[in-house]
Amino acid sequence: MTSHAKAVVIGGGVVGCSVLYHLAKAGWTDIMLIERSELTSGSSWHAAGGFHTLNGDPNVAKLQAYTVQLYKEIEEISGQSCSLHLTGGVMMADTRERMDFLRLAHAKGRYLGMDTELITPSEAKAMFPLMDETNFVGAMWDPVEGHLDPSGTTHAYAKAARKLGAEIVLRNRVVELTQEVDGTWNVVTEQGTVKAEHVVNCGGLWAREIGRMVGVELPVLAMEHMYLLTEPMPEVEEFNTSTGREMIGVMDFKGEIYTRQERNGILLGTYEKACKPWSPVNTPWDFGHELLQPDIDRIAPSLEIGFKHFPGIEKAGIKQIINGPFTFALDGNPLVGPVQGLTNFWCACAVMAGFSQGGGVGLALSNWMVHGDPGFDVWGMDVARFGEWATLRYTNAKVRENYSRRFSIRFPNEELPAARPAQTTPVYDTMLANNAVMGDSWGLETPLWFAPKGSEPKDIVSFHRSNDFGPIGEEVRATREKVGVTEIANFAKYEVSGPGAEDFLNRLMTNRMPKTGRIVLTPMLNEFGRLIGDFTIAKAGDDRFMIWGSSAAQKYHMRWFEKHLPKDGPRGSQVRIHRFDQTLVGLSIAGPKSRDLLQKLVDVDISTKAFRFMDFREMAVGGAPCMVNRITYTGDLGYEIWMAPAYQRLVYKAIKEAGEEFGLVDFGMRALLSMRLEKNFPTWFRELRPIYGPFEGSMDRFIKLEKNDFIGREAAAKEQAAGPKLRRVSFIVDAADADVMGDEPIWAKVGGKDYGTVERPHGYGAPRFDAGGKEVRGSKAAEGASAVRGIVDGDWRVVGWVTSGGYAHYVEKSMAQGYVPAALAENESAGLFEIEILGHRRPARINVEPPFDPSGEKMRT
Ligand SMILES: Cc1cc2nc3c(=O)[nH]c(=O)nc-3n(C[C@H](O)[C@H](O)[C@H](O)COP(=O)(O)OP(=O)(O)OC[C@H]3O[C@@H](n4cnc5c(N)ncnc54)[C@H](O)[C@@H]3O)c2cc1C
Repeated sequence: MTSHAKAVVIGGGVVGCSVLYHLAKAGWTDIMLIERSELTSGSSWHAAGGFHTLNGDPNVAKLQAYTVQLYKEIEEISGQSCSLHLTGGVMMADTRERMDFLRLAHAKGRYLGMDTELITPSEAKAMFPLMDETNFVGAMWDPVEGHLDPSGTTHAYAKAARKLGAEIVLRNRVVELTQEVDGTWNVVTEQGTVKAEHVVNCGGLWAREIGRMVGVELPVLAMEHMYLLTEPMPEVEEFNTSTGREMIGVMDFKGEIYTRQERNGILLGTYEKACKPWSPVNTPWDFGHELLQPDIDRIAPSLEIGFKHFPGIEKAGIKQIINGPFTFALDGNPLVGPVQGLTNFWCACAVMAGFSQGGGVGLALSNWMVHGDPGFDVWGMDVARFGEWATLRYTNAKVRENYSRRFSIRFPNEELPAARPAQTTPVYDTMLANNAVMGDSWGLETPLWFAPKGSEPKDIVSFHRSNDFGPIGEEVRATREKVGVTEIANFAKYEVSGPGAEDFLNRLMTNRMPKTGRIVLTPMLNEFGRLIGDFTIAKAGDDRFMIWGSSAAQKYHMRWFEKHLPKDGPRGSQVRIHRFDQTLVGLSIAGPKSRDLLQKLVDVDISTKAFRFMDFREMAVGGAPCMVNRITYTGDLGYEIWMAPAYQRLVYKAIKEAGEEFGLVDFGMRALLSMRLEKNFPTWFRELRPIYGPFEGSMDRFIKLEKNDFIGREAAAKEQAAGPKLRRVSFIVDAADADVMGDEPIWAKVGGKDYGTVERPHGYGAPRFDAGGKEVRGSKAAEGASAVRGIVDGDWRVVGWVTSGGYAHYVEKSMAQGYVPAALAENESAGLFEIEILGHRRPARINVEPPFDPSGEKMRT
């Protein structure tokens, strides 16, 4: 075993081998994979080997598509077959809601270059004759689905990596990890110590234990998972012989099952409600190529529905039931990337679908390690997306919830209950008493909207406008016309201080830093000129800055800040960063009467001249020491008031009492988001993400290329000089009873012109056949769905995608934001655009100026 390596990958499952292969492919040859036992000794060997491209997060879906495309490549390099069966597959809907869900997924697929199609149950039956199609109302066909040999695939990655120069050490457990002062890792193994610059945790079932070696509790948990294999079935053999094809894969939401052909029989797996964690606290090191005891009672309810939906399978004898553990993070997506607070310690774990995601994970992580950036928008699987609140028990509750809901629909207004409430602010009980419907905002309970007195504070989940529509409208109107108060503890808050603070921020941010007592808004870019942050920054005093950002991005941003802290030079150690988390909480008041209200609570002059728009001041509010920003996300006259938690109840009570004479109302996050829509304000992680440049994101006025050299400046200058390809725009949509949710395709009537921003379909995948064995293309779709396949329909093209939207209650319009080719971005013509909502294309029109207070006069008064 070599004693030094640039990188040591711990774990020889499909993910570790993929990471190794991608690092080697990127040119790192002095790399090593260390495996405790043999390759595939964790969950990889007993996987069902299914793969697909669909994922709720379009960016993760893209990486899944890459994974599937990769198999040919690794087969060629390694000479090892993956036994790929690209059969295609269907997702079956048994209700209108599930069909709506499929419509959404299908619509999303249009701009992702996915070749999905909505089909009828009988069309699905033609490809999987064991089903009783009368149980279903429709289906979605995805040609890029199939199955492979898990062991062969893992070995193909490993062999390909070896051919490119990587070393693989088997039967050697990593027992300890320590780090030298210079950052070198000591990877202590049973066979000796390896010194490494980088360490990658691909420990699969033991990823949690490897995390603990460096003092990190990763939010990952293994769950037992069962699938059964039937005896050979004559129906399967007959289908294969008569059509010359294999049966396709089927996912049945109602039964919580997936099924497909395996040899001459059927494989059927379940995601049962009565799910069971495996080794919830510690994973035994001596667990090897073993299976767990099957528990048929737990999966009986799913099987009962399965046999009803697929009566052909019920008749078959069960040959074997496999029960094996595999890992999940809280939301079912992987944990990838550098761990905040550590140097050169990387994760690629909690990969629950290693054969759909392993390739994408390997590519993104190797890019990140070799080039400093994952090269894709990997937020959906970034290890930084969960906070300290994701403890062992929290993870246990959330993973069980996620597993048992794997085939359930998540409605856009649905809040999931497990592990809640976790964090609460001092006004939590008061908010409940005010009939607030609470939501989970990065582990913190946050008021979403206030239900009318006497009614149950509960969302009726739906893809359509729901029971919050009326109350949110009232919150918005009362705020815009009088004054409203809302909780804003769910923002990220940081303090950057010290003599080097201003230089540090000037290097990181695109805007100039403010003068003392003033506020600026500023994006943050990476070296490639992509948007990685959007902040409000106040200069609170000499060498002291207060920063507010997106709550969910706290660890993501801290990781970036820490990476760029000056390491040497005279001012090097003179920058301190403090993340407040919930040690600083806030309330915001907004609306034309907010100044009159605040004036009653403070003993200083806050008139327009004395306390201007974008001013920052420390002052006592209702007797409590606070920091006050004259700014609000509603786009009205308004203030953000920040205080230590011990004062929040005092300030809230003072605001409520003083506000009575002005008609003060409580408003929640949903009203806030509705108000920002009619101001065309973007949100982080929706409109602004690392796949966009600052000019594409229409953040032009915050990019000060002429100031000092900041990270990403050169790339931003190039983007500006060449002209952005895309632009973020706002639309008014002629919607009916449902608004956009995000990720809908934007169609434009552009004739023959190709604006070149939408990915083309993959151009490969399994063709679909009817019962007579004839290939089917563009058939009549189920349930009145658009019969149009792909991204072209006569003169219409899919030219972009929606990032977010909803109903703008004050201007009484359905609105959406999204990206379109720059050449179309200022075209406000009616009849040019359509946005697809739940399968129906709705007329939409760009509005360059915000429909509410376009001149911004109200917030400046
Ligand atoms: C029943 C079942 C069915 C499944 N079906 C599918 C499916 O159809 N499609 C799909 O995509 N996925 C499926 N999966 C999930 C799939 O198996 C996992 O996504 C995949 O195996 C994860 O791979 P991994 O490399 O992350 O982890 P693992 O396979 O667990 O590999 C981790 C490796 O790290 C090694 N290791 C750990 N600690 C150390 C240490 N300290 N020192 C050295 N080595 C160490 C282990 O020995 C192990 O080999 C299924 C899983 C199960 C259980």
